[in-house]
Amino acid sequence: MKQYNHIFNILYLICMFLTVTAIARPLYYQHAIPAIASAPQTSVDIKRAALTFDDGPHPVYTAHLLDELKKRNVKATFFVTGEHAELHPDLIKRMHDEGHLIGNHTYSHIQLTSSNKNQFKEELIQTNEILHDITGAEVQYVRPPYGSWDKKFETDLNMFPVLWNVDPLDWCTANADRVASTILNKVSDNDIILLHDYYDTSVEAAIMVVDELTQQGYEFVTVDKILFD
Ligand SMILES: [Zn+2]
Repeated sequence: MKQYNHIFNILYLICMFLTVTAIARPLYYQHAIPAIASAPQTSVDIKRAALTFDDGPHPVYTAHLLDELKKRNVKATFFVTGEHAELHPDLIKRMHDEGHLIGNHTYSHIQLTSSNKNQFKEELIQTNEILHDITGAEVQYVRPPYGSWDKKFETDLNMFPVLWNVDPLDWCTANADRVASTILNKVSDNDIILLHDYYDTSVEAAIMVVDELTQQGYEFVTVDKILFD
């Protein structure tokens, strides 16, 4: 009888073991399934935006901006004038070395009109040469000042114009919070944001925007990624 008791105890233990694992298994999978299923969802949810900065480099504000972008591992695009690039080649070199994209914004910030096409083209060529001398890289992107452009330059110079989707008019206010909130209210996936690293408030606003949009799941990329990827 003692022996039967022993066998009974063993059977009881096996039965308990199976019951516990039967309960535990769905609990385990219930926990595991959302973790597996959420992986592709997260990658779909990633949004992208490109920060672009015109008119620089500025000796103080651009240097500060580069420091802050580096801390956050954020890449941006700088459309610089040849004039300012010549004055601050160290900052141009730094932009290039730190993975930012550099574009052409003419030599003297000239606006294209029907009567200055040759001069405009010469300024683009001159600025490309200045930038190439500093970084060793070809310049492919241009932001025409005031958005005035002639498609013929694209084939003549093998350059691609880059406009924008979000313009907070940062140059006409000294209020960084207002610039940042204008951007945050307008921005959506794959937008190109226009700012100027020639104003301290614009740089301040850019940093606020980076921190807020990063929290919202945005990734910051250079404009070529938005235009061609
Ligand atoms: Zn400009």
